[in-house]
Amino acid sequence: DDSENNAPSTPGSPGFSTDRLPPNTTTSRGATDPSSYSDDDGEAEVDPNVLPEDDGATVIRDEEEDDGEDLFNDDYLNDYRRMDEQDQYESVGLDDSIEDERNLDEIMADRRAAEAELHARDVRTGATADRKLPRMLHDQDTDEDMNFRRPKRHRANFRQPSGGPRTPRSDDDGDGLTPSSPGRSQPYSGGDVPMTDQTDDDGYEDEFDEEDEMNMYRVQGTLREWVTRDEVRRFIAKKFKEFLLTYVNPKNEQGEFEYVRLINEMVLANKCSLEIDYKQFIYIHPNIAIWLADAPQSVLEVMEEVGKNVVFDLHKNYRNIHQKIYVRITNLPVYDQIRNIRQIHLNTMIRIGGVVTRRSGVFPQLQQVKYDCSKCGTVLGPFFQNSYTEVRVGSCPECQSKGPFTVNIEQTIYRNYQKLTLQESPGIVPAGRLPRYKEVILLNDLIDCARPGEEIEVTGIYTNNFDLSLNTKNGFPVFATVVEANYVSKKQDLFSAYKLTDEDKAEIEKLSKDPRISERVCP
Ligand SMILES: [Zn+2]
Repeated sequence: DDSENNAPSTPGSPGFSTDRLPPNTTTSRGATDPSSYSDDDGEAEVDPNVLPEDDGATVIRDEEEDDGEDLFNDDYLNDYRRMDEQDQYESVGLDDSIEDERNLDEIMADRRAAEAELHARDVRTGATADRKLPRMLHDQDTDEDMNFRRPKRHRANFRQPSGGPRTPRSDDDGDGLTPSSPGRSQPYSGGDVPMTDQTDDDGYEDEFDEEDEMNMYRVQGTLREWVTRDEVRRFIAKKFKEFLLTYVNPKNEQGEFEYVRLINEMVLANKCSLEIDYKQFIYIHPNIAIWLADAPQSVLEVMEEVGKNVVFDLHKNYRNIHQKIYVRITNLPVYDQIRNIRQIHLNTMIRIGGVVTRRSGVFPQLQQVKYDCSKCGTVLGPFFQNSYTEVRVGSCPECQSKGPFTVNIEQTIYRNYQKLTLQESPGIVPAGRLPRYKEVILLNDLIDCARPGEEIEVTGIYTNNFDLSLNTKNGFPVFATVVEANYVSKKQDLFSAYKLTDEDKAEIEKLSKDPRISERVCP
């Protein structure tokens, strides 16, 4: 497939991976070790044939025979002498249709004016918050740069802004968390929830002093290992809980707690997906937001546990209706083309768009599995299986048999999933190329959220194996790499607006001038 080779060598966006490399290589990649920039950057190779064949070149060649070329010989400054005919941009690729006749002072003055205007616009639209995003989230950056800048991010965002969120218990204890809707919500309490996070909850506030919090941000080992540590998970849980209970959208004039309101709305609509605006979250908890994007499996697991507890605390009976609350991440500030998704995105959160070309039926997937020991009949389990790890039973605790074990059909819980084929939108496929596609897995309440022909955007986890057990046990097809959807939004409305033909537009124009139009449209 030659399009791989023709593609730019840097992927569209490298995801957020901060643990892509083993820790000990980070510095060497980030440092300016010339040997690490050998051939693969595709430039800097000088064709010797273009050098003029003068006497100097001959001398240098001779020296090379002995002990290499002396780049700092006596007249090396001569290489930098002024050469008007060569010190110019070549005209290929330059747009010379615009002649800039300003001098440097004028250019600088214009530039300052433009920046002042942009800043004023940001202030007006409230976009200044976005500027506090780590730069990596805006940049289509290289891997090296990201690793290089990482320590700075870690330091920069430790301190909360003084106007930031209050700790939920400090002054809300006892009189409800939502002043705007006093009757509906109750103050959460750490009681009677069979969840470790929750029963430990009273220790949350005391568990991490400032020093501990600082240490939580100092990732040791790979990030993916780090976020599976108990204390780190408790820390993430604490911070996310605070966020859910105390985040106030600066645009909200009543100063409502954004997510308490959204939880109330979710419950009223009898839904079980809570949408978290990534840009809001990263503004408050930049490090954890980056962990979420970089190691989404573990971090989402913690967040969903917290989400569940917060929702069921605020709405006690809701647990009788839904067993689980899904945390959906909206507004992830990266966007990748399907054709640019690479190995480096693996197990990170990505956002891609395209047209649904196929939608499978709904398949069952093992979620909570029990096994029968064929030797002694003991029921083993339940084992909880997610998309990332396959449950393997070592030996029977009763008879120490190493198997075989068979799935206990009655006591095994399945969850449903559906597979979409997402194909690049026609507009972005380079001329003469075939459109690329990705398999997207929909789970739970995302099933049936999109149908063939619709243009959608998927935020999800790029993963290389959806369900190992399906492959090995049931002979389901092996998916090489798939995107496990976390959030799906439709672009259909936008899309159909583009499909107005000129005739349509002319017709609309004509109708709009018809004085009887309001009677016709609204009889
Ligand atoms: Zn047994």
